[in-house]
Amino acid sequence: MKVCSVSVDLDPISCYYGIHGLGEPPAPLAHVVLQRALPRFAEIFQRRGIHATFFVVGSDLASDPSGRATLTDLAKSGHELGNHTHHHRYDFARLSAEEIEREVADAHQVIAQAQGSPPIGFRAPGYDMSARVLRVLESQGYQYDSSLFSSWPYYFAKAGVMGVMSLLGRRSHSVLGDPRALTAPVDPYRPGSGPFRRGQSSLVELPIAVSPFLRLPVIGNWLLVAPARVRTRLLESVRSRSFFNLELHGADLLDADQDGIPTQLISKQHDLRIPLKDKQRAFEAMLDRIAQDYRFAPLREVATDVQREGKLRAGGQNL
Ligand SMILES: [Zn+2]
Repeated sequence: MKVCSVSVDLDPISCYYGIHGLGEPPAPLAHVVLQRALPRFAEIFQRRGIHATFFVVGSDLASDPSGRATLTDLAKSGHELGNHTHHHRYDFARLSAEEIEREVADAHQVIAQAQGSPPIGFRAPGYDMSARVLRVLESQGYQYDSSLFSSWPYYFAKAGVMGVMSLLGRRSHSVLGDPRALTAPVDPYRPGSGPFRRGQSSLVELPIAVSPFLRLPVIGNWLLVAPARVRTRLLESVRSRSFFNLELHGADLLDADQDGIPTQLISKQHDLRIPLKDKQRAFEAMLDRIAQDYRFAPLREVATDVQREGKLRAGGQNL
């Protein structure tokens, strides 16, 4: 049977304020993603027996004891915690080797404590990878990276938004990733000296899902805002693949009213206008549909198979 890994990037709300050039979020909302959205994901996954991968920002985990307790419980019940850097800097891939090492190592330490075992997987902020980051992950013993998202429509849409913001004199913390990622393989592979081509790295790359040919994004917030028919077509488009790496964000299950999200952010982040009930229903329908063709497994299981056998266990493609 084919394999689907569901992963949730637990970016704190300050990331969204940063992307849209809105300054700092109100203090009471600092941990809204871990405290309000994370338990909603946990409940949906539990009802379906899905073990997911949560990519955790180290500084958020370290400063939120109740969020840490939730994540520890999730790890104990079979979910995986992965490393999403310590401060989620969007310029992470362009930092010096020493700064990259510190961002990875600091998050590694707090996540290992919360999980009870060291994380073996990594996702870069803003999907931005570099050869320098790859070297650091190899030297710190990581088994897989899952940062590459080689979607042309996403890339050009992001470039457009950033261009308009700079024309308006608003500064986004977002960084446009390396365009070489747009021609990287879309199925699991072993990178080389750089992250975008095949080679002999000690870790494997598990790319985030895009559709064949046009490489349309098949990720949570695009699926959420898409009309139901488009959502169905996007999910259909990846059915020929033996591995489906479905990436979501913690903020996908925030509710503007219940969670007290300021209008300032809602006006910039369109999926926040959709009521939580509708988003939960859409997610649940999506997961039920996927369950007809795939078994669910956290990314670490897929990485272990690919590391050991050079391919997915369930008759997947060779590296
Ligand atoms: Zn992120």
